Amino acid sequence: MKPIIAIVGRPNVGKSTLFNRLVGRRKAMVDDMPGVTRDRNYAEVNRFDIPFILVDTGGFEPETSDRLLQQMREQSRFAMDEADLILFVMDARGGLTPADRDVVDMLRRINKPVFYIINKVDGEKQEAEAGDFYSLGVDHIHTISAEHNRGVGDLMDEVLAALPYNREKEPEEEITKIAVVGRPNVGKSTLVNRLLGYERVVANPTAGTTRDAVDTRFTVNKKPYLLIDTAGIRRKGKTVQKVEKYSVMDALRSIERADVVLIVLNAEEGVTEQDSKIAGYAYEAGRACIFVVNKWDALEKDNSSIAKFTEEIRRNFKYLPFAPILFVSAQTGQRTGKIIAEVDQVMEQYCKRVTTGELNRVFTQAVDENHAPLSAGRRVKFYYATQVAVKPPSFVVFTNCPEGIHFSYERYIMNRFREAFGFNGTPLKLIFRGRD
Ligand code: GDP
Ligand code: GDP
Repeated sequence: MKPIIAIVGRPNVGKSTLFNRLVGRRKAMVDDMPGVTRDRNYAEVNRFDIPFILVDTGGFEPETSDRLLQQMREQSRFAMDEADLILFVMDARGGLTPADRDVVDMLRRINKPVFYIINKVDGEKQEAEAGDFYSLGVDHIHTISAEHNRGVGDLMDEVLAALPYNREKEPEEEITKIAVVGRPNVGKSTLVNRLLGYERVVANPTAGTTRDAVDTRFTVNKKPYLLIDTAGIRRKGKTVQKVEKYSVMDALRSIERADVVLIVLNAEEGVTEQDSKIAGYAYEAGRACIFVVNKWDALEKDNSSIAKFTEEIRRNFKYLPFAPILFVSAQTGQRTGKIIAEVDQVMEQYCKRVTTGELNRVFTQAVDENHAPLSAGRRVKFYYATQVAVKPPSFVVFTNCPEGIHFSYERYIMNRFREAFGFNGTPLKLIFRGRD
């Protein structure tokens, strides 16, 4: 399980600047994908081969000054419940505020690593301004400049060392790991019971106590499957607002550990903002995806209902055109029997390998038929492509100009690979690497 690092702090202290600094994504990746860019407040990060999930808690609610303190308490509580390590950011320019003190008082009582960060210390001169903060009397005070990348490397060295992370790799299992994700009340528990084929009683951890995932093994036609975090799915009894907020994190944790993600939607309610967030994360995590439209029994249907709903999904999840869609009723069992067969199919594609010979036949033809546009007046040349990984299938393409390839061209190449090899249900990764 990847550890979660939460960034907490007042508005404007530089949380998102720090977040972006640490995530350091290529911008073109997100620009072209509606739905993925919105509310990007969590990301999977790999630093020196140590993976973790970074959460910017600032993005959860609109920030208004009268509710500031309450919000900070909420953010911190969220971080205290969910995160494995907390980065509490303060602002050297704004100085130490009562709200900061209040949160520090909360954080110092918890039993998790907390790093106290003074941001906007842009140079030696500003170090002096940070003096105030030492009166807090806490360990791990770090002065940084997120904007100018000052002190961030040193900070992260210590953060990584403090992570409760198990460096031993889990042994690869020949088992298909399935995550069932979706908003509250879309019918996840009901669906899980269907898939397991019986009503299974799972302990119901109360809020704030251990959040260990409970995975459930089951077999279909002697083939083993693992249903991820069934306890998380069944955890109930929180206020509606909290459940809404937490469910994205629950989904995120499950997605991280899955091969195939069942994105459950509610036929009665259509696609919502939160569905987009969850699906966006499944896409970014590079997992195989299947849309499961549940409560199909409850809908007044006519001949065009399936086509209309399909269109709504395709329009809202433009980045997941490859994900199959199933229309089911977890309650009546209508078509739920098809889910595992579909899981098997996308899993096969998710693990598929194509030979370098086959790949380059398709790749050369694609390039011949549609040349890459010039990059800064320079002709883009390609040498060859090779598959370097599965889960998801990932390809390296050698070129003279790795930075100059536009996202739309990348997508064109991916589509040609899909036409030739299928890859239904799985995302693909294309990596351009330089070679002169
Ligand atoms: P958030 O509300 O906590 O997410 O804060 P932002 O990341 O949006 O930053 C608030 C403002 O502070 C922006 O104008 C940033 O450019 C600025 N800022 C962030 N980090 C630094 C820094 O290290 N030095 C300086 N001088 N400004 C910074
Ligand atoms: P979860 O919060 O996503 O786990 O959702 P639940 O499985 O607890 O279901 C929420 C509500 O929707 C419950 O009242 C279920 O009985 C109901 N429900 C679940 N699946 C279906 C379905 O296929 N059809 C109908 N009509 N109701 C359903």
